[in-house]
This record gives sequence, C-alpha cells and structure tokens, in this order.
Amino acid sequence: MKLMLLGGPGAGKGTQAKRMVSRLGIPQISTGDMLRAAVANKTELGLKAKAAMDSGQLVTDDLVIGIVRERLAEPDCTEGYILDGFPRTVAQAEALAEFQSLDKVLSIEVAEDELVARLSGRWTCTNKACGAIYHIVHNPPSTEGKCDACEADLYQRSDDQEVSIRERLVAYGESTAPLTSWYQDKGILVAIDGSGTPDDVQARITAATS
Ligand code: AMP
Repeated sequence: MKLMLLGGPGAGKGTQAKRMVSRLGIPQISTGDMLRAAVANKTELGLKAKAAMDSGQLVTDDLVIGIVRERLAEPDCTEGYILDGFPRTVAQAEALAEFQSLDKVLSIEVAEDELVARLSGRWTCTNKACGAIYHIVHNPPSTEGKCDACEADLYQRSDDQEVSIRERLVAYGESTAPLTSWYQDKGILVAIDGSGTPDDVQARITAATS
C-alpha cells in the first residue's frame, strides 16, 4: 500500500508512521529524517538544506524531489511505503504523480494551538535507528532525558523552538495545506481526527487503512 501522511508540524506524522511500519511491514520515508541525517553528515545536500531547515522554511523542491525519487526506487519500497513529510508543496505532489501513484493520503487534523503545545514539549531519541518521540507532559520518558526503548539520550530538535515553530506553521499554511484539496480532487484523501493519544489516532488510521 502506498500511503502518505499529511498534516501540520506536530500533527503526529512521525509517531504514527513508526507504528504503521510494524503493522503494515512497509518502510517509513521521512524527508525530514533524511535531510537531518544529511545535515549531520555535512553532505552536499545537507549543506544546501541546513539554512532553510534551521529557520523553519522549506528546502527547495528540486532537492527534495531528487532524494525521494532515489529512495522510492530502492527494493524495500516495491510493496509500498509511508511517506512522512513529502510532498509538502503542490509542485512536489505533481512531480511524485509522474512516477508513483498513491493509494491513500491520510490527513491528520489537529488545531494550531495544539500543534504549538506539542512541538514545544517534544523530545526525540538521538539514536537514528530508534527515533522515538516523547512529550514532556503527555508522554514523558521514565528517566528524564533518556529513551525508554533504547536508553540513548533525548534531544530537542533545533527547529522545535518558538520562532521556528511559527515559521513552520506559516510554511505549512501557505505551501502544504493546499495539498488537502489537491488530493481531495484526486479522490484519495481521508481525514483523520488527530486529537487524543497516539493510540487513539493509530486506531483511526488502522480503521482507514484496513
Ligand atoms: P519534518 O521533520 O518533516 O518536520 O521536516 C523538518 C524540516 O525539513 C522542514 O521544516 C523543512 O525545512 C525540511 N523538509 C522536510 N521535508 C520537506 C519537504 N518535503 N519539502 C521541503 N522541505 C522539507
């Protein structure tokens, strides 16, 4: 099944995608994770992407389309995948449609105030293979600063700061929100209520994808 998770920053795309990977046995393709790895490894792509990412703006379409095209050509994607954070503009959606057709786009809907509250309390596992996500109030780790799953240190993403959060919400409203009607017109958009616990949301996603 070829799926895409659409939703504002903090809507729970990464959290839900990780749960879907084990249930559906298809990979999560997160452009945010791929770009953060490129920045950490100081690759040419990372150097080009860093400034936009730090300020909460979008990386250029051509860079992102290039990495997704390569990634989806890998053998683990033949049975399907879960796109998380891509496409983020209509131009990206049009480029993707030239070489892949999605089965469903799950639009996780969360109010803006709730997105800000989630992002400003978010802590992420430093172990890339784990990538578990916590919230300081709603889903705290058992030991402060340590991942329950693999015991690695947790960190706060540099773009999860107030100024970058606002910028990301603006970028979402201007560039990504129009994808909702774009995919609705294609007849593959499914709205998912993103409120409640991660388990609540996963149950709604399971119902929509089985
Ligand atoms: P995310 O982890 O999905 O929140 O992405 C973090 C940051 O990576 C975004 O704020 C953008 O700067 C960049 N990014 C991730 N995916 C894309 C995309 N599809 N198009 C443009 N920029 C992206």
